[in-house]
Amino acid sequence: MNRENFIDTMNKILKADYGKSMERASAQEKYHAAAKSIMAFIAEDWYHTEVNYEKGKQAYYLSAEFLMGRAFSNNLINLGIYEDVKEVLESMGIEIHGLEEAEEDAGLGNGGLGRLAACFLDSCATMNLPVTGYGIRYRYGIFKQRFEKGFQREEGDPWLRWGDPWSLRRIEDRVTVDFSDGSVQAIPYDMAILGYDTKNVNKLRLWQAEPITEVDFQLFNEQKYDEAVKEKNRAEDISRILYPNDSKKEGKILRLKQQYFFVSASLQDMVRKYKLLHEGSFEVFDQYHAIQLNDTHPVVAIPELMRILVDQEGLAWDKAWSVTVKTFAYTNHTILAEALEQWDCMVYRKLLPRVYQIIQQIDKRFVAELKKQNYSNEKIEKMRIFANKRIRMAWLAIHGCHTTNGVAALHTKILIEQELRDWYKLYPDRFQNKTNGVTPRRWLLLSNPELSELITELLGTKDWIRDLGRLKDLEKYADKQEAMQRFIEIKEAKKRQLAAYIYQREGIEIDPNSIFDIQIKRLHEYKRQMLNAFHILDLYYRLKENPQLDIQPRTFIFGAKAAPGYFRAKAVIKLIHEIAKRINNDPAVNHKIKVVFVQNYGISYAEKLFPAADVSEQISTAGKEASGTGNMKFMLNGTPTLGTYDGANVEIVEEAGEENNFIFGARVEEIETIKAHYDPKVYYESVPGLKRVIDALVDGTLDDDGTGMFRELYQSILEGASWHKADHYFICRDFDDYRKAQEKVDKDYRLPLNWARKCWMNLANSGKFSTDRTIAEYAKEIWHIEPRKI
Ligand SMILES: *Cc1c(COP(=O)(O)O)cnc(C)c1O
Repeated sequence: MNRENFIDTMNKILKADYGKSMERASAQEKYHAAAKSIMAFIAEDWYHTEVNYEKGKQAYYLSAEFLMGRAFSNNLINLGIYEDVKEVLESMGIEIHGLEEAEEDAGLGNGGLGRLAACFLDSCATMNLPVTGYGIRYRYGIFKQRFEKGFQREEGDPWLRWGDPWSLRRIEDRVTVDFSDGSVQAIPYDMAILGYDTKNVNKLRLWQAEPITEVDFQLFNEQKYDEAVKEKNRAEDISRILYPNDSKKEGKILRLKQQYFFVSASLQDMVRKYKLLHEGSFEVFDQYHAIQLNDTHPVVAIPELMRILVDQEGLAWDKAWSVTVKTFAYTNHTILAEALEQWDCMVYRKLLPRVYQIIQQIDKRFVAELKKQNYSNEKIEKMRIFANKRIRMAWLAIHGCHTTNGVAALHTKILIEQELRDWYKLYPDRFQNKTNGVTPRRWLLLSNPELSELITELLGTKDWIRDLGRLKDLEKYADKQEAMQRFIEIKEAKKRQLAAYIYQREGIEIDPNSIFDIQIKRLHEYKRQMLNAFHILDLYYRLKENPQLDIQPRTFIFGAKAAPGYFRAKAVIKLIHEIAKRINNDPAVNHKIKVVFVQNYGISYAEKLFPAADVSEQISTAGKEASGTGNMKFMLNGTPTLGTYDGANVEIVEEAGEENNFIFGARVEEIETIKAHYDPKVYYESVPGLKRVIDALVDGTLDDDGTGMFRELYQSILEGASWHKADHYFICRDFDDYRKAQEKVDKDYRLPLNWARKCWMNLANSGKFSTDRTIAEYAKEIWHIEPRKI
């Protein structure tokens, strides 16, 4: 596309859609016109990609979440026309930045799991792999967060208010989804997924729920207006909102409706196309379809495909089962027992009676199989799909899929050796590891163009963008002062940019010369934002005691949403705000330390935070974080990890060297050993400073506005509360180790070139953590598909 062409199209769309000239159009309108111009530009390629992919085996990624973020700059970059478009807009006096900021984030996910799905789509398109995403077109994505007196407040996220220029409503492909209490229509919206430097355009098909009949004319006529649109509202409820829970199971009937809705629609879509294109027998369905289940949310696909094959296509049960198992693969994302999804049998039976019957059949046959293999009754009860009138979705997944994978080496090891040991014994060939990754296009090229340019210059090629392993060749610059000086300047520039943005968004001034110590991720006890908070408070007390305490100025930055019903997570948000208030308003310390909790952490904020970080906080209790992907985004931007030996941190350190990172705390084995007799009071009494910060929760130092939140936190640490034992996440155990690691950070930061070297070694060794590597493994070892370049 040449610039004249682009501007010409943009002008036409502005006139046609908004009746305005370029001069009069708002940023919003210009952004839309620009986006639609891109869509017009790729339309032909998109069509050819679809036709091309239909010829052979395809993979389908079923996920209840896709945390896409903004598409505009990403698409321009992937098309290789970002600079061109920027210049041509500038020539008309338009700042591209204004258009970028006019786009709403597509926040159709909670956190890591949803973002992984989005990074995967980018890699699949870039690698010309025939992969389609299937999900739900939530009208409201992840809630918008703001803080009021330090408390989290949630608001709806009407991201579609201004329309969605990246999707096509494909009403001709609509299908009907049946529940026992009525049927709804599923309308597909196809979002274009542009790969980097390729003509292939992949597809994310998101289903929107709509009623079969919009309005009951009879009732409306009788002036029963609410009644008349009841069916419409009931149907639209299904795709109205994303559940804002992250790794905590949520047993709502509406959630089950969401799951079945998009799974049934997606399978119907595949079956219809299969009939049209192959006229083949369903006995070879698996030779054309590889379906990946992203966590257990879409696992109802297993009995649903059985229903289609047996009831509709007339296959015998055994044949259908064999096809089903060969079609599906399942990704496990969590070790937290409380997050393993289970469904009440009654709910299933009532809403999806036939699907429920099929699950019963699957369970019955499975039990018989285990009996035949001489499993004890006790073992069988442990492994069968039904437990106490509940359906264990993870068990159904492992039994109904040819492959189950964990998302980091340590995670997979824990699954195989502990959580899923029985299953591993039964199906040793079904388990694989696929360490997560992130797309270098969004998380380096787009977020950090300055660093990207330096890399390209030093390597003399842009090949690293598609082949991140090439960064290894940067290692030799780690000891070259000139290169390191340029890296330092870039890091400083990114910090200044972030400081300006934080000032604009939060009204808080931060010092770009201080260490930017950043913890950004969903708020969860296992991620231990509270450990970070305790350390900050301890540092504050030490500074008050000893004003001469020699420390490097530091800014502690947090970003996190808490699930609206997660009381203790919300308490931690309030706690950090109270600590921030105390520190930021105390002139005796606020030139040395400062605390900022940014509002509404999401993809767009993340793009500004990762490149500006000096320290990456990855401090989860060992064995609890399956992988983490935020850790990889920091690494990719040249930031050392301050973390536990958990999830993908293990592999990060393996790649970049322990000497270039700051690893601390109990390891999985130690936690396993101490957990039976663990008593946090021992640490509370004996570790200097620990008692003081824990007591601050209840001795009047910190004020929770009479909510009782802080007392509850105190009890969770020292006494245990509701469902768990005291200090379930071993904060007291790790507190002193963490403080020592922080002291080492402080010390090492003082030598700029040495510090830059550590940063650089992380960047140079981040090649493994590209989703291009992850996806290549999925394609080869699970999906068995090949690239199909158009
Ligand atoms: C990467 C990312 C996450 C995942 O972060 P973790 O630290 O791996 O939990 C969550 N939210 C957003 C917006 C992200 O970009």
